[in-house]
This record gives sequence, C-alpha cells and structure tokens, in this order.
Amino acid sequence: MEGALTARDRVGIQDFVLLDETTEAAFLTNLKKRFSKDLIYTYVGTLIVSVNPYKELDIYSKKQMDTYMGVNFFELPPHIYALADNAYHTMLTEFNNHFILISGESGAGKTEASKKILQYYAVSCPSTTLLNTVRDKMLMSNPVLEAFGNAKTLKNDNSSRFGKYMDIQFNSEGDAVGGHILNYLLEKSRVVHQNHGERNFHIFYQLVEGGTDDLLRQLGLERGVQHYNYLTQGECAIVSSINDRNDWKTVKNALQVINFDEINTNHLFGIVASVLHLGNIQFDSDSKGHALLNDNTELHWLLGVDVQNLQEGLTFRKIEAKKDQVLTPFTTDHAIYARDALSKAIYGHTFTWLVNRINESMENKVRVFDLFAFFSSFEQFCINYCNEKLQQLFIQLTLKAEQDEYEAENIEWEPVQFFNNKIICDLVEEKHRGIISILDEECLRPGDATDLTFLERLEDKMGNHPHFVTHKLADKMTRKTLERGDFRLLHYAGEVTYCVVGFLDKNNDLLYRNIKDLMCQSKNAIVKECFSTMDPDSRKRPETVATQFKSSLLKLTEILMAKEAWYIRCLKSNESKQPGQFDEALIRHQVKYLGLMEHLRVRRAGFAYRRKFDVFLKRYKPLCPATWPHWRGEPADGVEVLVQHLGYLPHEYKMGRTKIFIRHPRTLYATEDAYEKC
Ligand code: ADP
Ligand code: MG
Repeated sequence: MEGALTARDRVGIQDFVLLDETTEAAFLTNLKKRFSKDLIYTYVGTLIVSVNPYKELDIYSKKQMDTYMGVNFFELPPHIYALADNAYHTMLTEFNNHFILISGESGAGKTEASKKILQYYAVSCPSTTLLNTVRDKMLMSNPVLEAFGNAKTLKNDNSSRFGKYMDIQFNSEGDAVGGHILNYLLEKSRVVHQNHGERNFHIFYQLVEGGTDDLLRQLGLERGVQHYNYLTQGECAIVSSINDRNDWKTVKNALQVINFDEINTNHLFGIVASVLHLGNIQFDSDSKGHALLNDNTELHWLLGVDVQNLQEGLTFRKIEAKKDQVLTPFTTDHAIYARDALSKAIYGHTFTWLVNRINESMENKVRVFDLFAFFSSFEQFCINYCNEKLQQLFIQLTLKAEQDEYEAENIEWEPVQFFNNKIICDLVEEKHRGIISILDEECLRPGDATDLTFLERLEDKMGNHPHFVTHKLADKMTRKTLERGDFRLLHYAGEVTYCVVGFLDKNNDLLYRNIKDLMCQSKNAIVKECFSTMDPDSRKRPETVATQFKSSLLKLTEILMAKEAWYIRCLKSNESKQPGQFDEALIRHQVKYLGLMEHLRVRRAGFAYRRKFDVFLKRYKPLCPATWPHWRGEPADGVEVLVQHLGYLPHEYKMGRTKIFIRHPRTLYATEDAYEKC
C-alpha cells in the first residue's frame, strides 16, 4: 500500500493479534517501534505487554484515569488502566471473580504495575468515607510490605523478595470493602547473606539511618549501617536512588494508618534490632574447639528470653534420648550456622505475622498477583516451578476461555495444537517420583545424605526423562557446559541449570529444637506468637520448604481456576536501567520465556479478531452508505450489510451471537486503511 503513512506505520500496531505474520521478528519490530515512541503498552487480545521505560511517563495522571473509565478496551491506546477498568466492569456486570496476573523478570516493572492498578481502583471506584479507610489501608500496606520484603539487588534497586497475591473485595455496588494479601516464599537467606552489590531488606537500613536517637538507644543500636555485619556484606549500604531516612518516615506513618499501636510497633522494631544484634555475635572457641558466646546484653531482652538459655541454644545442641537430655557443644562454625538459622527464622516469621496483621486490619474480589524473581539455585528452582504452574494455568484458562467463547457464540472451530508443559510440572511435583519428593526423602534420610547424594538419587530415578539432563547422562553436546553437581531442566521457556549445593539445607530450613522452645517462651509478644504457631505438634517434623511451596501453589491454582484471568506481561528493556534503550536480545529472550508467541498463536489459531457487533458497527459505519450516519436495525444486521459492502468473502468471517469473528487480520487491515482515509 502506498501513499500517506497509516497509523500502523507511525506507531506500530496496538494489538499483536493484528500483525501480518506471527514471527518473533515481526513481534519485536512492532514492540521496538512503539517503545521508541514511548508507547510502552501493547495488547495481545486482552493481554498487555509492557516494556519498562525507566523514566517517568505522563500517562498516569488523574486525567488519564478519567479517560479510561468505562471505555471499551480497544477504543483508546493500550493501557493498564483499560485492563483494570474492564476487569472491574466485567465483574460488576457478570457477577464473577477476576484476577490480574503480572509476571516478568526482576526489574521488569511488576510491582510498579500492581501499584498503578491499585491507585486506579482507589481513584475510580465509588466510595464512602467509611470505605476510604479500607482503601487507605490497602495503599498504605505497600510501603510497609516493601520495607520488610524488598531489597536492593543487582537487577533492581527496589526488588520484591517475595511473591505477593493481593485480593480486593468489592460489594455489588462496586465499592472496595476489603482486602487480603497472600505472601509466598520470602527470600530469608538475604537476612544473613547478601551478594556483592546487593543489600539486606530495606527496613534495617531505614531503622539505623532514620530512627530517632531515643529509639536507637532503647534498642541498643548505634547510628550508621557500618556497625552491622548483616548490613555491609554487599558493600553498597548507601545507594543514591534510595533515601532510607525519608522511607523510614513513610513506613512509620503507614504503620499508624494500618492500626499498629505503640506496643506492637515497639515489639516489631525490637525484633528488627535483635536480628542486627544477632548478626554481630561472635563466637570464640575454647581449647577443645567448642564455641563460646560473648555476652550480648541487648539481645536477650530484645528477644524477651532468658540469657542463659539463649547462650545455651546458640552453643549447644540438645538431643533428647529416651528420658535423658544430652547437650552436645557446637564448633564455632556450627554456632554461626545456628545463629543465622535463628535470624532467618525470626525475620521470616515476623514477616508472615506482619502480613497477617495487615490482613486483619483490612478485613471488613479483583485480585492482583505480583510475581517475583530470584537468583540462587534452590529458590530459582522454586520460582521456575511456580512459573511452570502458572503457564499451565495460563494454557488451561486461555484455551478454555477460547473454546468457551466459540461455544457461547455458536462458532465451529478446530482445537489448537500447543505444547503442554504438564510433563514438566509432573517432573517436579509428582508424588513419590517428582524432584520435590526425592529431595524430601533425601532430607529425611538419616545419616550421610548430602546435596550430592540427592543428585545421585535424581540421576537414578529420572533416568532418561526428556526434560531432565545431568552430567552423567548428558550427551556430548550439552555436557561441555554442565558441571558435576549440576542438573539441568528443560523448562517450557528454555533450559535452566541448577547447582545442587544448598538444596538440602534450604529445603530443611531447620531450627534447633531448644532454640525454638526458647522463642516460644519469649516476653516479646510477636516473637512468642510467631514461634508458638509454628507447628502445634512439635514432635512431628515440619513440612519442608519445597513441599510447603508446592501446597500453596496448588491451593492458589485451584482458587485461580475458578476465576477469569487478565494478564500483564512485563518486559525489561535493558540491564542498565537506562531510559530509551531497547536491548533486542534481552527482550527476545523474555518474549520467549513469557510464552508470548505461544499466546499470540493461540489467539490467532481460530479467529484472530472479534468484536461485539455494536462496537464494530460504531467504528466502521462511515464506510458504508447504508450504515452511515445511523443504522436503524439490529447491530448484527448492520454488521452484515457493512462487511458485504466491504467485500468480505464468506470464509473470511463468521457471525456469532453477539460478535463478529474475523479469521485473518489482513481482512481487517483493508477496512482499517479505508477508515483512516475517510
Ligand atoms: P519488578 O517488581 O518487576 O522487579 P519494579 O516494578 O520494582 O520491578 O520496577 C523496577 C524499576 O523500574 C522501578 O523502580 C522504576 O524505576 C522502573 N519502572 C517500572 N515500571 C515503570 C513505569 N511504568 N514507568 C516508569 N518507570 C518504571
Ligand atoms: Mg517487584
């Protein structure tokens, strides 16, 4: 087509479904064209692809919000507000539940997107003064959760180190009347160890930098992060993009809004401080090499426990044999391990406690689900398993939705062929045979189980599973890059190599019994509550981390299966967090592992394009004298007249009950171009 530039040439296509060809190259070209014009959102049907611009765009103002309220999805440029608004209105008209799944790698913009959606609901939903409080609490819970659950990483200065699933409950008038947050798998190991260029959780720095002199004195802390071992390992405690002192004020204020009284707040910061004190504990060793603890007076009273017992807990292991108790002294290494295990346990439980408390305050449904990303091997394994499950959900829901729509509209169609990743989910989660089961067995096996024996068991049991590769089994091609001690999974999104070091330990997440018992007796109400609820039957072995994670994922997928899905796929534009840079290789990789091409193919397999009759007619009626300026009859008849006038062939489109379905976008292009010219 020659002549004037069409909208498509200028700003790309705003819905990938309408692309001429479904190649990755065409996909990327369109994405890039739009990105260069600061158009960071593009649809694939009702899914949104978002590319992180790394600069403030003027598209989130109140005016913008108003523009999108109650407007049909495709009439305005793509925006997350359009998605939020459509989910909301569909919920109100169809009385069903919805969820919005936001995924992407670390730094891609998931948390920002979830915040923007919450802000949109806060502004657009009707509300009375009473309901405002629920709304405020929902918005204010964010800074608190971020302080305790986010940290600076290499990829993102404000990286969420936990998975978050947030529920907003609406009544039939559309008012937000309650909220609920589920959290998943906080990266606890960060409390005691940070890689170079990374920090511990924000709250520690905020407290030490922002707390008043009085508060610090009470907690036995000194001002300045340099005093604390747990804060300085990454050698980047001070970051230019982070203002810990200001953030501290925000968090303090937010705690008030979500109803934390002074006693609770004091207990909470007592715990944060106690973790810092724990990190500073050094152990000496006696002549036999047994660990000795230097006195630390603040620690025992902050934790509200008996000083002698705490010392004992950190330097001895108590084993109950028949009726006797045997105390075995620790080496210093062992004592450091016990110390760090306690720090992680305290912080982890407190985080869960905090989320529960926030939930109580919002008690009185659209759901926002902000995924997260990790690097270390065991956690990465859990997260990739989570992604695998969500892909499975996505396949089931998308194909199901597609099928349901054709059925509802009375349209014949051929089932779509696609790669079903169930085989990989099974490989990980199957009872007795999956990787998690084998890992648990190895964790339970008394004696000489190690990470390497776990790997051997895997090699024995997995045999020649098509998605599992180890050094022993790897063919010459792949072995080159696979170390002893590694295994590789062929995920739906690509290969990932996992190093087994730390798998047993992280999965066990053991805390010695005597320390656990001690914490149950704490005078600090939060510590006591956290540890008392841990495992009611303390003789029973607690579930392993991977098994707990698996159960919570299964529960979540069950909840989500019953809801209508909306997706936001976030892409990172470049690794250096720079505006205007479109790193094609990096983006191609993400497009692949987020399954975007797959989604596009599913959307286009039957009928690429569909619109309600009235919407279609409203847009294109100027193209036909019989429908312009008004069509007086049924919209469906008007559409029929219109498309015949435009010369659509019978096989190119189908009339459903409420929508017109167009098989190939090219048919629509001609119409669009004609529309542009008229
Ligand atoms: P994720 O949660 O996916 O790890 P974040 O949502 O924390 O990533 O985003 C990382 C950073 O990228 C943010 O701190 C912000 O600087 C930038 N960013 C993300 N989304 C946007 C956006 N829509 N507009 C401008 N900047 C953004
Ligand atoms: Mg995040």
